[in-house]
Amino acid sequence: MNMIRLLLIGPPGAGKGTQASIISKKYNIPQIATGDMLRQEVKNATDLGSKAKVYMDKGELVPDSLVISMLEKRLKEKDAGKGFILDGFPRTVAQADALDKKFKELKINNFAVMELKVNEESIIRRLSARRVCSSCGKIYNMITEPPKKDEVCDECSAGLYQRDDDKESTIRERFRVYNSKTAPLIEYYSKKGMLKTVHADGEIEAINKSIVSLIEKVFNG
Ligand code: AMP
Repeated sequence: MNMIRLLLIGPPGAGKGTQASIISKKYNIPQIATGDMLRQEVKNATDLGSKAKVYMDKGELVPDSLVISMLEKRLKEKDAGKGFILDGFPRTVAQADALDKKFKELKINNFAVMELKVNEESIIRRLSARRVCSSCGKIYNMITEPPKKDEVCDECSAGLYQRDDDKESTIRERFRVYNSKTAPLIEYYSKKGMLKTVHADGEIEAINKSIVSLIEKVFNG
């Protein structure tokens, strides 16, 4: 198997984080999630975190320059040398261009782009039901994947919380942002002949199977 470098694109709540985490464990490659990295910056009250929070709370994109330099730094870390899965980056054409340039610089020429395609209304329902463990980050869904004990993590017993940007009005704004800023990437990568589409409305396991079989096809041989 060749080194796996995967870019996951999809609207909020399409299951990028869930799928990226499964893939990352299966192939032992880091999941690089710019949303998680930014939330960590906010939690640590860094300069970047305080700048990013203003946008994140409104469901808007953090400015390209901030996210691009954060991601470029992350790609230089040692673990990214064995492959990676990018979850939530790129999200604009400017970010895709920057990534292209970075890949050329790092002499990376084989990577795959997967679009997780979903129905908007069902996602809005699913996202408003999303809860995250405040300690280990495990993701639950109060409708489809509830914890055994109400609002408590099965793995570590810490409390669950709802992300500020998972409130319904914010979700709608994030979709609007996705359709105007990120959806153009579908054409961007499809023109380059690099786009693979995965229908992601179903069960986590079935969607994962489709992703794995695409990975095996693209990176085998
Ligand atoms: P996520 O966890 O991927 O849904 O990201 C949560 C929020 O972080 C987004 O709504 C944006 O405000 C911000 N964010 C994450 N990734 C990016 C990115 N690549 N570009 C700009 N903003 C981002």
